Amino acid sequence: MNLNILVLPGDGIGTEVTGEAVRVLRVVAEKWKHQLTLREGLLGGIAIHKTGTPFPSDTEKLALEADAVLMGAVGLPEFDEWPPEKRPERGLLGIRKTIGVYANLRPVRSYKALLESSPLKNHLVDGVDMIIVRELNSGIYYGTPRGIYEDGPEPRAVNTMAYTWSEIERVTRMGFELARKRRKKLTSVDKSNVLETSQLWRRVVVEIAKEYPDVALDHLLVDNCAMQLVLSPKRFDVLVTENMFGDILSDEGAILAGSIGMLPSASIGAKKPNGVWTGLYEPVHGSAPDIAGQNKANPFGAIGSVAALLEYSFGLNEEAAAVNRAMEQVLASGRVTADLKPAGTPATTEQVGEAVCQAI
Ligand code: NAD
Repeated sequence: MNLNILVLPGDGIGTEVTGEAVRVLRVVAEKWKHQLTLREGLLGGIAIHKTGTPFPSDTEKLALEADAVLMGAVGLPEFDEWPPEKRPERGLLGIRKTIGVYANLRPVRSYKALLESSPLKNHLVDGVDMIIVRELNSGIYYGTPRGIYEDGPEPRAVNTMAYTWSEIERVTRMGFELARKRRKKLTSVDKSNVLETSQLWRRVVVEIAKEYPDVALDHLLVDNCAMQLVLSPKRFDVLVTENMFGDILSDEGAILAGSIGMLPSASIGAKKPNGVWTGLYEPVHGSAPDIAGQNKANPFGAIGSVAALLEYSFGLNEEAAAVNRAMEQVLASGRVTADLKPAGTPATTEQVGEAVCQAI
């Protein structure tokens, strides 16, 4: 297969962890005889330094030509006081919009070697393996009217939550498709006892479910879901929900894995004519200026993003499983970075990347 990938290392530890992720990608391509076409672009603070803008037109062009984008992280402390539209983080919105991703996938799995790092009891976390699918392009973060109005007797603020049938339908389909390839269970999360947007959400989900009789569907109200995620996280296979609920629940899911450095994420758009799903893959963490340049960032979030890229964009399940198994093996060996609190001397970012390559 031809793996046509744009790499955007970004800022801070983004460059360090992406370096290891690319190393893993090269090993996979070599072992399974895929042709790897890698191009690199600028995004975030480094792009501002070199071109004056966080999302240069060259990067936009490269992103449109690629099948999938592998990203590090963006953000540099020197830009902290800059207005939002000029900051490195604006590059993230630019790239997401350019490639038209509409669903954010957060795989959450527990690793035996990290059970002690989770704030939950071992028996609750051991065996957790779920994907939270969050609608990314609509809902209250984008709805209008919005604003703070100072013209009345007191200041008043407004946000609008709005969804169309088709916005709900496409993300619901993604949830069902993912569930079909896993344990065939989909949980749709809404607040249909209070919100009209959620009532429409539930109607769409029930309608689409008729096309997926092999997938077991259940509905949870978002408040109950927040509770179930810590009470019995193992019950979940795939969760699908709207933008703001997903934003909150995916961070709750994140703590199950132990360290923020462990978490991959994927943002998926349309299926291309060549059968590949457009996708943007990145670790959940930021550029971590406090540890940048010290070769001590945990690269598992970035390497897990490579596994997600292989599976979701290219359908290479065997290769993805091999990357996940290799990570598990390295974790079990105890050769991990400082954030995972190993018993002996912590490994460097590069040493962990190398160990994963060897394990593959
Ligand atoms: P952060 O995720 O960068 O760091 C939070 C804490 O977690 C830090 O103590 C850091 O050292 C630690 N950490 C993060 N990733 C780690 C890893 N892989 N290994 C070991 N430790 C790790 O969040 P922050 O400090 O709030 O933000 C720093 C910058 O990153 C800001 O400019 C922010 O806007 C940006 N940011 C970018 C993204 C993104 O690119 N998607 C996401 C979040 C934050």
